[in-house]
Amino acid sequence: MDGSFKIGRLFGIPVLIHFTFLLIIPLFAWVIGSDIEFTVEMVRNVFHVSIDDRYILSGFIPYFLGATVAIGLFIGVFIHELAHSLIALRSGIRIDSITLLFFGGVAAIEEQEPDPGTELVMALAGPLTSLAIGLISGVLVYVVHRFVDSSAEAGVLIYIFGYLAILNILLFAFNLLPAFPMDGGRVLRAYLATRMPLHKATSIASSVGKGFAVLFGLVGLILFSPILILIAFFIYIGAGQESMVTRYNFLLKDVTVGQIMSRPVVEVPPRMPLSEVLSLMYQTKHLGFPVTELGHLVGIITLTDLARTPVLDRDAMQVRDVMSRDVVVLPPHAPVMDALRIMTRQDIGRIPVMAEEKIIGIVTKSDIFTVIELREV
Ligand SMILES: [Zn+2]
Repeated sequence: MDGSFKIGRLFGIPVLIHFTFLLIIPLFAWVIGSDIEFTVEMVRNVFHVSIDDRYILSGFIPYFLGATVAIGLFIGVFIHELAHSLIALRSGIRIDSITLLFFGGVAAIEEQEPDPGTELVMALAGPLTSLAIGLISGVLVYVVHRFVDSSAEAGVLIYIFGYLAILNILLFAFNLLPAFPMDGGRVLRAYLATRMPLHKATSIASSVGKGFAVLFGLVGLILFSPILILIAFFIYIGAGQESMVTRYNFLLKDVTVGQIMSRPVVEVPPRMPLSEVLSLMYQTKHLGFPVTELGHLVGIITLTDLARTPVLDRDAMQVRDVMSRDVVVLPPHAPVMDALRIMTRQDIGRIPVMAEEKIIGIVTKSDIFTVIELREV
């Protein structure tokens, strides 16, 4: 997802953080800190415990506690997401990455066609983990209350555990709303998919998801809640994207790159001047060519590579100076959906098709979208 950066790997899965996730920590610190009496009262009422609030209410401590609760919540969100991913891994489904958003996480799954049974277990794993975290935090409230004497320090701990318990249980409930692509929406899709084809189930689930998004957006506007509006936005975009991917999967099922590739392929030598490559693009209307030397593929050159080179240098410079050297290639029997996935992930527009060390064709993003349009008729 755009606006995310990588923070590390866990079980071989890249973990990304979306920038909204970081914005929310100071925001939480401020929102919780500036009216901490309200949440202290909430924890007292929910758990029916006494809280010594001498420390909680003094000086800057409310803001510090706000930040602590925010970080605690995000650790909870992270474990929630990890639960989804571990179930997926165990079922042999590859996970591309986990992205932490401010209201939860998104696990980008390589395999877009999980069977309903697997998806159901995978979808439920997250919310149930949040429920477990909530219950454990709740138990800790009573443990501290019972075994630590009722001091101001104990008050701080009771407040943090109590608030985290409430937030994780809200997270559990919120994620179970059938707003695809949130977890509850996935449960809905898994249920629908047992009685209809997956792309139909996805399309219905994502319409329900978009309905929820609109509802959240309206409520967010009425309540002046930027958080709810952002959630609405993410759900709307997410629902659209997933239903599109499932649709492509359906339309491109059984289509191989060999069936749709363009032939013959225009190849260029590594020593061709860039100005000639540009004229060749005008002639052929192709915006990229494989670069070959003695019959071997050595790189690929595209309009983007050319555009990066100053106009004045284009006569002096050659293909080999600007071409990309690590070229992704596919065999003719590879599914077109694989090609589309690689192109989207690596942001490339064309992939040479190779058989027995020879280029036999080239498949471009526009070829794929033409096929999608044709199949949609
Ligand atoms: Zn989840």
